[in-house]
Amino acid sequence: VTSFAGKRVAVFGLGASGLVSAQALVAGGADVAVWDDHRPGREKAAALGLKLEDLVTADLTGYDSLILSPGVPLTHPYPHWVVVKAQAAGVEIIGDIELFVRERAHIAPDAPLIAITGTNGKSTTTALVAHLYQTFGYEVEVGGNIGTPILALNPPAKGRVHVIECSSFQIDLAPSLNPSFGLLLNITVDHLDRHGTMEHYAEIKERLVAKADVAIIGVDDDICAGIAQRLRGQGRAIVPISILHPAIPDGIVLEGTRLVRKSGGQASTIADLAGIPSLRGTHNGQNAAAAVAALGPHGFELELVQEGLRSFPGLAHRMEEIGRRGKVLYINDSKATNADAAEKALQSLDDIYWILGGRAKEGGIGPLEPLFPKVAKAYLIGEAAEPFAKVIGEAIPYEFCGTIERAVDSATRDAEASTTPSPIVLLSPACASFDQFPNFEKRGDKFREVVLAKLAEPPKT
Ligand code: ADP
Repeated sequence: VTSFAGKRVAVFGLGASGLVSAQALVAGGADVAVWDDHRPGREKAAALGLKLEDLVTADLTGYDSLILSPGVPLTHPYPHWVVVKAQAAGVEIIGDIELFVRERAHIAPDAPLIAITGTNGKSTTTALVAHLYQTFGYEVEVGGNIGTPILALNPPAKGRVHVIECSSFQIDLAPSLNPSFGLLLNITVDHLDRHGTMEHYAEIKERLVAKADVAIIGVDDDICAGIAQRLRGQGRAIVPISILHPAIPDGIVLEGTRLVRKSGGQASTIADLAGIPSLRGTHNGQNAAAAVAALGPHGFELELVQEGLRSFPGLAHRMEEIGRRGKVLYINDSKATNADAAEKALQSLDDIYWILGGRAKEGGIGPLEPLFPKVAKAYLIGEAAEPFAKVIGEAIPYEFCGTIERAVDSATRDAEASTTPSPIVLLSPACASFDQFPNFEKRGDKFREVVLAKLAEPPKT
């Protein structure tokens, strides 16, 4: 990052993105000191030849900027001491996305940058936008919150599209973020721990679209609808997205399974999502509509758009089809760590043999009760098994399985014995994984492994 040449920069938090940021700053000629509360990060930094300085006790007044990693508490209830000190010393606090956008302004201001946020659907939409641009033959760099740190990607350049998933934290630390297309999918109650209040959370998310050349906004929740209205009032270019209100005069909407472009009240079909397994469920209609809007003029090349949607492989652990044995289909939705996400899975499927449980989140599975009729039987795992059994009560049959292995065995036995034509064994836990696994990915990997072993055996007829 050449725009920090000669500056004194502190980097706090030495996970993947902090390390990459520090290296990029050093390569660009900045004087960089790095620190982390935890030793493994410091050891990695030392191995990379980075200069360590205990930033928690250091005098920060001589620094120009503090680069903060995701995960370091920035706002209430308890900001990290480094943050408090930097603020007191008047040092700007920014993140790696800010470094990227300043560099872009410096070396390739017209390079296409697509930034995506929302409470739900960020990763799916990010992957889909990237896939669609690849379908159109672009060189695509995809990263940010979805995986690869933004500064580990190839730098911005003409004809190279950067597709970046942004968490609220990353937006908060990127005051210059000015994407070509900014996508704000939705804002619902979640993650209030770090951002304190809903107003603050919404205000941060709004910043991603506020300076976008084109703001693409899901208008189905009140907060996002308000943001869209405010930006429109300021004369900014907006594309509203709706799956609940197909009658809106302008934007992209979902009608049944079709994506429809509305313009001055006129409607034209863009594509049909029917039969695309990776985009099952109306929530994916929202993701797909927003992704197509981010194609700009390419969104009118209907054959390629349909082709790109159809060939989207989807993401692991999000309604991921593992395979079929006989009539039974296996789906891994390990990413559903709360009732809200599990609700989407239950809504979009039928005849479900549902594996759920883990470490329960606040609110439990009470809100899912209306969807219980879609479930043939529940297979309970992890810590939440007993409390969930109480909620389920007599509504559906259930079985205590303890582990994923036992749950897959039992669910397979029951699904194969059923008289219905297309039973589905679904892992959609509505719980965190931490009682039995390091993270939801490892939980989903376990499910996949157990299921693939089962698929290798012949079905019992
Ligand atoms: P994020 O990256 O924002 O966490 P993902 O794309 O990983 O979102 O999707 C996670 C889960 O959230 C999905 O499995 C699905 O249950 C739910 N989801 C996805 N898209 C949406 C959406 N547009 N609205 C509501 N829920 C969604």
